[in-house]
Amino acid sequence: MDLICSDLEGVFIPEIWINVAEKTGIEALKLTTRDITDYDVLMQKRLSIMDQHGLKLKDITDVIATIDPIAGAAEALTWIRERAQIIILSDTFEEFARPLMKKLGFPALFCHSLVVDDSGRITDYNLRQQNQKKHAVKAFKGLNYRVIAFGDSYNDTAMLGEADHGFFFMPPDNVVKEFPQFKVTRNYEELKTMIGSLIQ
Ligand SMILES: [Mg+2]
Repeated sequence: MDLICSDLEGVFIPEIWINVAEKTGIEALKLTTRDITDYDVLMQKRLSIMDQHGLKLKDITDVIATIDPIAGAAEALTWIRERAQIIILSDTFEEFARPLMKKLGFPALFCHSLVVDDSGRITDYNLRQQNQKKHAVKAFKGLNYRVIAFGDSYNDTAMLGEADHGFFFMPPDNVVKEFPQFKVTRNYEELKTMIGSLIQ
């Protein structure tokens, strides 16, 4: 049995933090896993920037509610779901993802969660587990699934390496150069062709 595991941001939806940075005008929030590979360092930096600017959870979710999936994403996801099971493995947070999952028809999503105080300030975050994308793929293989995985960035490479077949989707050039072992797809048509050639 095939199981497909995919990333979320940069694959089906735009980078949430880049949109938040643009809509709030706070340039420093544009950093993503494409720029800082250590996720904990990146998140602690984001939380301290939010505090400096007095931003609360609702300020962020108000922005997220205005984001749409990448053009063609919902159709591509439906195409995949007609052919195989897909689970989205993301380093985003349940609180952020919810409005966007509605626009994608509520696919299965494994991600992290936020710690929010009574005033609505984000004080911390809970990682479901370290390196969850890789561990999820490993667990699915233990359940006798043959795993096909794709994502766009650094935080996907362990998952791609663990999968039976791992490849990039719309990656930035620096990531492609650093990980030449993974094939590259650059749009939803190429993604469908790749998945069509891999599923049995
Ligand atoms: Mg991504």
